[in-house]
Amino acid sequence: MLGQMQNHPLLISSLIEHAERHHGDGEIVSRRVEGDIHRTNWVTVAKRARQIANALDAEKLAPNERVATLAWNGYRHLELYFGVSGSQRVLHTLNPRLHPQQLAWIINHAEDSVVCFDTTFTPLIAAVHSKCPTVKRWVALCDADKLPADSGIPNLVSYEAWLGAQSSTYSWPVFDENTASSLCYTSGTTGNPKGVLYSHRSSLLHAYAVVFPDSLNLSARDAILPVVPMFHVNAWGLPYAAAVAGCKLVFPGPAMDGKSIYELIEGEQVSMAAGVPTVWQMLLGHMQAGGLKFSSLKGTVIGGSACPPAMLTTFQDTYGVEVLHAWGMTEMSPLGTVCTLKNKQLALDEAGRLKVRLKQGRAVCGVDMKIVDGAGKELPWDGRTYGDLLVRGPWIIDQYFKAEGASPLVDGWFPTGDVATIDADGFMQITDRSKDVIKSGGEWISSIDVENVAMAHPAVAMAACVGMPHPKWDERPIVVVALKPGAELSREELLAFYEGKIAKWQTPDDVVFVPAIPLGATGKMMKVSLREQLKGYTLPGV
Ligand code: AMP
Repeated sequence: MLGQMQNHPLLISSLIEHAERHHGDGEIVSRRVEGDIHRTNWVTVAKRARQIANALDAEKLAPNERVATLAWNGYRHLELYFGVSGSQRVLHTLNPRLHPQQLAWIINHAEDSVVCFDTTFTPLIAAVHSKCPTVKRWVALCDADKLPADSGIPNLVSYEAWLGAQSSTYSWPVFDENTASSLCYTSGTTGNPKGVLYSHRSSLLHAYAVVFPDSLNLSARDAILPVVPMFHVNAWGLPYAAAVAGCKLVFPGPAMDGKSIYELIEGEQVSMAAGVPTVWQMLLGHMQAGGLKFSSLKGTVIGGSACPPAMLTTFQDTYGVEVLHAWGMTEMSPLGTVCTLKNKQLALDEAGRLKVRLKQGRAVCGVDMKIVDGAGKELPWDGRTYGDLLVRGPWIIDQYFKAEGASPLVDGWFPTGDVATIDADGFMQITDRSKDVIKSGGEWISSIDVENVAMAHPAVAMAACVGMPHPKWDERPIVVVALKPGAELSREELLAFYEGKIAKWQTPDDVVFVPAIPLGATGKMMKVSLREQLKGYTLPGV
């Protein structure tokens, strides 16, 4: 017997219709490539999304054709999120920090028909367009009079002219909610990147989950600042979640330095911001240097890499800002866990609460997780036993784009490649990426734990722990450190700093100072490049 409720498919167009109708005057504020601050609202975003749909019809784009974006966070990118997917085309977000060769590879693999790009990236497009035969139309995200001259890019049009020629009357099509909505490629630290093809259904269920109170807790009273880029996993689903909740949205554009982010938070009275630790480090550095305070910020979501303890306590104790530590992956849309306390943990003392809050958190309802040993046997949730972390749920990948024959799943579960513990209350803690964990004398050392101690030293800007070959112990950890500008620190001082903070056998054998730690396209430390840099290095005494 079937239920007797209306069978409305879960479509992205329903989100923009909701935001337009119920939160129409809700503001969307963007710092633009042009340098100014631009203001619009949900009514205008919805209207222009319909113009995009008409423009894609005028280009004779069939359903499911891919429309790519190479753009910062801003209102035009937001309009494309809704206009492209809503009209049953697939929004393919491209990462501008990729090497041009890799970018061309991805455009070709996805068979993009249209590419919309911020003018910042004109040189990048000029370098790759001739290698991208599937692209019929290049759209520069600018006014007609700002169209890059003499770029040599064929079939180039300005976004405002392209969209402005179209009517804003359009009826969003109704189709199967399992239809593809957007496409994002993984960072591809090993081999070619892999495409993750989200559906309308997965995107909507994920958007609702982002809004939950014990998730990001978003409401119509919030102003949210996604510093996390819209080119990486749909900015953690925040553009969709903001439409669900009716939030004010504030976009940083290309300016992600501490000063610009601080000014935007204060100027727009942002209540919640989201980004990777490297961004918050720049913001905190700016605030500390200028003795600044926040007047509106209540929380920050930190994910993408482990949040260093020193960052969590600085936000909380110095600035009164709650840190929501979150974990996820491109393959998970991305939200998997968020760390918010349960009632009984409120009774813990400060140190006890901090210990919990540094974990990556509890599974959001919709995500199921387990840890297993090398033989696939499920391990206990005791907060100590670590194993490979597997997940499943309606917004988790089933198969990679154009790799349909080779399922990445193991008995229906997706192996995350992360190693983790889960405690009796369901709080998961990432120990490492499985390929980064240091195997020393049969025991595992968490590179994150080693990095966190170094990051707590006031002279350290960034620290990366890697394993080095050792004849007796297989591997021993060393810590590679970039110091803050003007700071001084010796190897011996840093090693002494480890005393009492970590077991002796987990303490790194050596410290290597470098001017900067290599960062990948999504702001994560590139340990592969770091290992390359360290070729020829030998441990002391080996
Ligand atoms: P990506 O698909 O590029 O977003 O990378 C996903 C990976 O980033 C995860 O598998 C983790 O290894 C790492 N990651 C994401 N969030 C966290 C976090 N809060 N703590 C530690 N690692 C994280």
